[in-house]
Amino acid sequence: MPTLKQRILTHIKDNGPMSIAAYMSWCLLDPTQGYYPTRDPLGVDGDFITAPEISQMFGEVLGLWLINAWRSMGAPETVQLVEFGPGRGIMMSDILRSARLDKDFHKAIDLNLIETSSALEAKQAEQLGASGVPVRWVTALTDVPEGPTLVIGNEFLDCLPIRQFIMKDRFKGAGGWHERYIDIHPKNSKKLVYSIAQAPISAADQALLPTNTPEPKTDDLLEMNLGLAQITEALRTRFAVHPGAALFIDYGPEETEFGDTFQALKKHEKVFPLDEPGFADLTARVDFAALRENVLNNAGAELDVYGPCPQGSFLSRLGIEVRAVTLSRASSTAKAKVARQLHRLTDTDEMGTLFKAIALQSKGLAAPLGFTDTT
Ligand code: SAH
Repeated sequence: MPTLKQRILTHIKDNGPMSIAAYMSWCLLDPTQGYYPTRDPLGVDGDFITAPEISQMFGEVLGLWLINAWRSMGAPETVQLVEFGPGRGIMMSDILRSARLDKDFHKAIDLNLIETSSALEAKQAEQLGASGVPVRWVTALTDVPEGPTLVIGNEFLDCLPIRQFIMKDRFKGAGGWHERYIDIHPKNSKKLVYSIAQAPISAADQALLPTNTPEPKTDDLLEMNLGLAQITEALRTRFAVHPGAALFIDYGPEETEFGDTFQALKKHEKVFPLDEPGFADLTARVDFAALRENVLNNAGAELDVYGPCPQGSFLSRLGIEVRAVTLSRASSTAKAKVARQLHRLTDTDEMGTLFKAIALQSKGLAAPLGFTDTT
């Protein structure tokens, strides 16, 4: 059986260079050899750690956010709670614990998980089996039963496929954005390298690019996350009919920035993204400004957008420090541990500033908890 890398090399040999997006999809999602379907990548023994893996407080305060959003919809008797990319199910189990603070909310929850990895799906089933809420796994938002909806996703947007474009000969007249591809090394047929398309991108692709960028210079690199427009469209369609609120948390800047942020993580270390297809986590920072622009331009009649807002201040506004005080009381060792966790989640030098929260919700619902803007 050829390895995933051999299959990719053969594909490029037969069909020509591959876009970064196609490479990401193949590496992360291939059903038999892809990164996610074949392993549990999370935790200290895995490749990377996420906020819910750091502390129960993260999911618990998000539970309060969800209670508030549900109340702002008029506390419907049933609400479809949807999580994109639930990992090991830890965040959802923490959310469901704090959801019990409002018994009616807990009772209203019908839980839908959207997960691509069967390995992780098994962990989610184990983690959430005793939660007391009905759980189903679906492949898309369109498979979720009708009705009022709450959507949540942590570190999900960053693993959606991106395309990369490089500005060439900007000031010589002939240039423009050229797509970056993945090709076979000219001198080593077993090695993958980056290449750049000779021709500039089509006018149709040009129209998809974010426009709120700085003025590009020659060799600037622009990334476009293909999933952001799809998510906006899926939420637009659904929230136009059913009241809904969605919250995404991920890493990325507030404004669109140029630069190559495509990265691979293995055992908590960065590795070259083209070296070990299928064996390393691939992500790129999320362009929150592009997501916001996309919502305002394409779904402004159906959706309100709040944020992006830095994770540290967002969690503080949800009361994470208050929760930390309560958890610290358990013992003297708990106190130091909880303080360390709080620091990692909220401090500017840790996840507090790099990570952001953004909310998309049906037009006219009350402003969500944790955000200060009112757009
Ligand atoms: N939210 C979790 C896990 C983040 S890792 C946490 O914060 O710990 C990314 C998650 O998204 C994994 O569960 C992965 O299997 C899932 N995933 C990645 N791409 C996906 C896709 N296209 N569709 C559905 N799930 C996906």
